[in-house]
Amino acid sequence: MAAKKVAKKAAKKAAKSNGSFKLTYATMFNPPEVMHTNFDKAVAKFRAEMGKDVPMLINGEDRFTEAKFDDRSPINTDWLLGTFQKGGVEEGKAALAAARAAAPQWANLKWKDRVKILRKAAAQIEKRLYEIGAVVAMEIGKNRMESLGDVQETADLISYYCDQMELNNGYIKPMGKDPLVGYNATNVSALKPYGVWVVISPFNFPFALAGGPSGAALAAGNTVVFKPASDTPYSGRLLAECFRDAGVPAGVFNYVTGGGSTIGQELISNPEVDGITFTGSYDVGMHIYKTFATGKHPRPCIAEMGGKNPAIVTAKADLDVAAQGIMRSAFGLQGQKCSACSRVYVENRVKDQFVEKLLDLTNKIAIGDPTQRANWLGPVANKNSYHDYANYSEELSQGGEILTGGKHLLEGDLGKGYFCAPTLVYLPTDHRLWKVEMFLPITTIAGYDDLDAALQLANDVDYGLTAGFYGSKKQMQLFFDNIEAGVTYANRPQGATTGAWPGFQPFGGWKGSGSTGKAGGSLYYVPQYLHEQSQTIIEKA
Ligand code: NDP
Repeated sequence: MAAKKVAKKAAKKAAKSNGSFKLTYATMFNPPEVMHTNFDKAVAKFRAEMGKDVPMLINGEDRFTEAKFDDRSPINTDWLLGTFQKGGVEEGKAALAAARAAAPQWANLKWKDRVKILRKAAAQIEKRLYEIGAVVAMEIGKNRMESLGDVQETADLISYYCDQMELNNGYIKPMGKDPLVGYNATNVSALKPYGVWVVISPFNFPFALAGGPSGAALAAGNTVVFKPASDTPYSGRLLAECFRDAGVPAGVFNYVTGGGSTIGQELISNPEVDGITFTGSYDVGMHIYKTFATGKHPRPCIAEMGGKNPAIVTAKADLDVAAQGIMRSAFGLQGQKCSACSRVYVENRVKDQFVEKLLDLTNKIAIGDPTQRANWLGPVANKNSYHDYANYSEELSQGGEILTGGKHLLEGDLGKGYFCAPTLVYLPTDHRLWKVEMFLPITTIAGYDDLDAALQLANDVDYGLTAGFYGSKKQMQLFFDNIEAGVTYANRPQGATTGAWPGFQPFGGWKGSGSTGKAGGSLYYVPQYLHEQSQTIIEKA
């Protein structure tokens, strides 16, 4: 299909839902009223039904195990969302066997037919937007618009990968004429699926980072075994249902639950696996990358890992815009986005002025049950993060100056969940925590006099995921020319370092943030799930 037609179709679809409003992370700040009403209804419905025993989905069948684990809400740990199956080696093997058995038929299906099914999956997701959004909010403590964004992004990622298949004719492309005189040869480059793909996702974008990679793997013709983070198994199940209900055949998409060190370890060490997409922390990502490399032959491992994302503010910046963008990126989802702005370097000439504005916005943040419309900031994901927050705050109070935050929030019902105050800290630039991904609502701030020195500080970490800049056009060029990060933004009020959307901002990391240098939601993503075959056919003379 021609590019224009694809874009037109997508725009028409977007316009149909919620009037003309298109939900993205950059537009979510002022949604139409109907989104609030629908979300409230969905939360009420889920709360009335929650607490079920939720099975895995292997080879198209629900699968239960004797051992279970609880999925409790970090908003209020009395809320039992569901019990889930503690899958182990046996379930990992069963899911891989199902994916292997289903692989030839799925790979041999015409790519246009696969795309048709996956477009139906994207439509299923959009149809269940509020229901799934409510679960994401309850499960991980995202506010309503972030939760709905996570779900909408998933549908858009899948649609985008379908668009890419169409725009690239399924990655089957004619090459040039053979230069060998006397032969009448046709040369074709055909990208083909690898076979069985494992997708392992983190807790923080439980839907998009499960559905995005899975959608690309499936569109490319691989079968998938997917394991969500143990903090967010519920939304994973809903994703599996969307694929199943769209007509993805049994065995093509399998959903398993259980611990990273048990079923997860089985999935990364089993020789049946042809490729992996992991999104999560640097330590686990590097473990997977190295483990996977010990197989019999090289296999692709797409590892998307942590971030320690800087924003630089110069004296030429619009300080109101900078403060807005940095506050949103520092504390959106409680600082638990891989793209969160956790470091700020501000030119000394405007430091006090800027920090005053940032503090003002931070102190106005509404904190509480994030399923409630009024609240923007929810709890951190789990008990470990809650304890880490206390430990880091203690360390920061000794090495730096805490400007706001640094304490757990315990008033009323907040004490039933993992609520932490958004924290801003002045910190000497040689402090060790400038280089550690805390993954919490904590952002450190330092002043600078020279922009080159600020850029050096910004680059002086093992990560290279996102970066933001506020300053003049001329300074901006220096930033883009020198910053070591895969996703960069300048003068953005919607988010200094956060808020990428498929098809607009490719999302992937450099250095310790990513293994392939190619980004999600981008032109170059789907080919990573395919290997190339060169086909030369000699016509009879
Ligand atoms: P983790 O690395 O702790 O876990 C990620 C996933 O890996 C989970 O499903 C986990 O399962 C699983 N896992 C753990 N150990 C193993 C193992 N030995 N073998 C196989 N799987 C395993 O990350 P978090 O869930 O805490 O997510 C936060 C991290 O993710 C941050 O570092 C953040 O920056 C990063 N991230 C990166 C993104 C990017 O695009 N670069 C995007 C989003 C997040 P279980 O939960 O059962 O332990």
